[in-house]
Amino acid sequence: MNSELTAYITLVCTSGVLNMYLFIYVFLNRHKYTSIGKVFSLYTFLITVYCFSSAFGLMSTNIEQIKLWTIIQYTAMPLSAPVGLLFIMYYLGFEMTRKKWIALLTIPIISLFMVATNDIHHLHYRVYEIDPLLGAPYVHQEMGVWYVVHGIYTFACMLFAFILVLTRWKETERVYRPQLISLLFGQFVPMATAFIYLIGLTPPGLDPVPIVLWLTSILYIWSISSSRLFTLMPIAKDAIFHSINDGVIVLDETKRLIEFNHASKRMFSKLNKKMYGLEFQDVWSSLSGGLVPFPLETEAFREVQLGEHIYQVRTTPLQQAKNSRGLLIIFTDITELKRLQIKLQHQADYDELTQIYNRRAFFQQSKKMLSEAKEKIKPFTVILMDIDYFKKVNDTYGHDAGDQLLKHVVKICTTLENKNILFARYGGEEFVFALKGSGGKSYAEELRQLVESQPLIIDDAKIYVTVSMGVARADKDENLNQLLQYADKALYAAKRDGRNSVKEYGIDAV
Ligand code: GH3
Ligand code: MG
Ligand code: MG
Repeated sequence: MNSELTAYITLVCTSGVLNMYLFIYVFLNRHKYTSIGKVFSLYTFLITVYCFSSAFGLMSTNIEQIKLWTIIQYTAMPLSAPVGLLFIMYYLGFEMTRKKWIALLTIPIISLFMVATNDIHHLHYRVYEIDPLLGAPYVHQEMGVWYVVHGIYTFACMLFAFILVLTRWKETERVYRPQLISLLFGQFVPMATAFIYLIGLTPPGLDPVPIVLWLTSILYIWSISSSRLFTLMPIAKDAIFHSINDGVIVLDETKRLIEFNHASKRMFSKLNKKMYGLEFQDVWSSLSGGLVPFPLETEAFREVQLGEHIYQVRTTPLQQAKNSRGLLIIFTDITELKRLQIKLQHQADYDELTQIYNRRAFFQQSKKMLSEAKEKIKPFTVILMDIDYFKKVNDTYGHDAGDQLLKHVVKICTTLENKNILFARYGGEEFVFALKGSGGKSYAEELRQLVESQPLIIDDAKIYVTVSMGVARADKDENLNQLLQYADKALYAAKRDGRNSVKEYGIDAV
């Protein structure tokens, strides 16, 4: 074995050992890192296998051994480039899916298959034999079709990973730049070496890439120990921008669209990158068909309804440079919140069983009605209504029938709907009305007759029901509680009088 070859093998083994060290170190510490630790240990494992199989290939003495080590090398080497790319993508905060993994690893797996079966089809190496001049382990090879595919793919993966890191350079904080340098070199060194090899500048029949991989592993070791690669990682601003749940739209100082995030795309499906540069008014009218319902000059909060969704829109001017103001528009979908708010408001104001106003809402609204009436010196009346012998219905037909009867009476009362009349459940089987005007007693009488004439029909049973009512009119300066007390007294008189009757305080009752 000549000394040049010995030097090669030594360097390849050094690369293998250093990568094995990286693999073991990161693998043992993987619980300290995010999932990137696992991807990186897979990457270094593949490189380790690549280096050692390459070293063993260089120690081979016949073509069978060389082919065997080449096949072993192909279990790792073709995979290492896309796994390296995946590692970079994890590092830069890309969302990684199983589909992306499968898509990236398909060609390397085919390459392994191609090499393992090359003797049959010669698609990977057209010729693969011991170099007639140099002898083993030097190989004379001629590329087949698949070799070209494999070569281009491997190169493309490394180049793409390199460019990805490079595009983030500017926006990455200084403290993370040493990490980026090691990542850039991690891709660049093997890529450049492979390139030099492909254009024939290195000795033929020898893959020089494993010879230089010790360099990248040293850079990684340095980066892990000194700049805390894996434990302290930059989160790309872009990733943050797109991971916000709120829709964010950015306009330049001339109010033209320059940026929007994924969430705003989800909110407005028509939004697309072709709209970049358009005036926001035009963008908005194609999204909603209307004028922009919020100011584009100042800081503002607005609620905007678009289709079935309600958004809270916040506009914030961006001070980029002097006299140059862009605008940030943030959309928060508050549809669900609004729905809940409406539901809660409804629950707070309405009686669950009968779906008319409850006592609380009655007090709130009737107080307003009363003070309005007082202001305008208009008459105001309250009526209390109580179902007669309601307990008997419960006892005879059951509680459910009692509930149905309550709804039945409410239904009758609401047929006489009048916007000047407030109707609410006062409690139990008692109801209350507040009316503008003085026609309270005749209204009550009309209702009493309606209820009396319309029995509730459950299955085959007809349940006849009557109500008693007490009416109280505001004469002097009575407040609501006084009026209700008077109405209650009148109601008591109606009950005492045998029920199914209407009494008015001050006239039929005192
Ligand atoms: P009166 O003619 O003197 O008013 O007799 P009444 O039986 O109607 O009056 P009482 O106050 O003795 O009974 C009212 C009953 O109403 C008692 C209570 O169990 C029943 N009740 C109250 N709220 C509900 C309800 O939401 N559903 C049902 N099914 N019953 C209710
Ligand atoms: Mg009662
Ligand atoms: Mg009753």
